[in-house]
Amino acid sequence: MAAGVIPTNEGRTCVFAATRAQRFENELRHDIENGYRRVIAECDPDLAAALATARRDGAYHGFPGRAGFFRRSAGPGWALVGDAGYFKDPLTAHGITDAFRDAELLAWAIGKGPAKALEEYEAARDEAAGTIFELTDQIAALEPDLESLKAKHRLLNEEMAREARAAASFDARAA
Ligand SMILES: Cc1cc2nc3c(=O)[nH]c(=O)nc-3n(C[C@H](O)[C@H](O)[C@H](O)COP(=O)(O)OP(=O)(O)OC[C@H]3O[C@@H](n4cnc5c(N)ncnc54)[C@H](O)[C@@H]3O)c2cc1C
Repeated sequence: MAAGVIPTNEGRTCVFAATRAQRFENELRHDIENGYRRVIAECDPDLAAALATARRDGAYHGFPGRAGFFRRSAGPGWALVGDAGYFKDPLTAHGITDAFRDAELLAWAIGKGPAKALEEYEAARDEAAGTIFELTDQIAALEPDLESLKAKHRLLNEEMAREARAAASFDARAA
């Protein structure tokens, strides 16, 4: 289980609850509001109390999860970026970064030239995505072993730092 609080726009806050796929299916899918409140109360009773008096500003959105995948990212006359080409569970909050990264890699490949460059785009995307993809799959399983989860988050942190360094080099490569 997991829960979190994300400040968004104009003073609003997104409060999320996450649970294993089986529990979502059995308990939340047909009663999102009560299931959501139960998960939050189990994770953080103070947050549940704060939520009880908060004003809701939109519909509840449930996401049952889906397995991650890689697709071919380019072919003659077409290319995919972002979730269309490569998807992983949103729990590690990384899909937007991936979409921007893909757009950058693809623009660089197109600027470089013909079909061969698009193959390089796919290879560069797969290499950049690899470890974070695997870690996301493991973290999103929401196994209850907190020590192992902490270790995975430490690795994720290292991988994200590596990715940030790689993204910082994009400008130099384009020059
Ligand atoms: C519950 C949840 C929470 C998430 N939280 C985070 C987070 O905290 N941080 C983060 O980085 N990422 C998060 N993500 C992931 C992130 O939202 C996606 O990875 C990101 O939006 C992918 O961007 P994209 O442009 O590839 O695809 P999308 O944002 O899906 O954009 C694709 C667009 O194309 C449109 N479209 C589809 N088919 C057609 C068509 N045939 N013709 C025209 N238009 C079409 C769609 O309507 C959509 O507007 C979350 C995802 C989910 C589901």
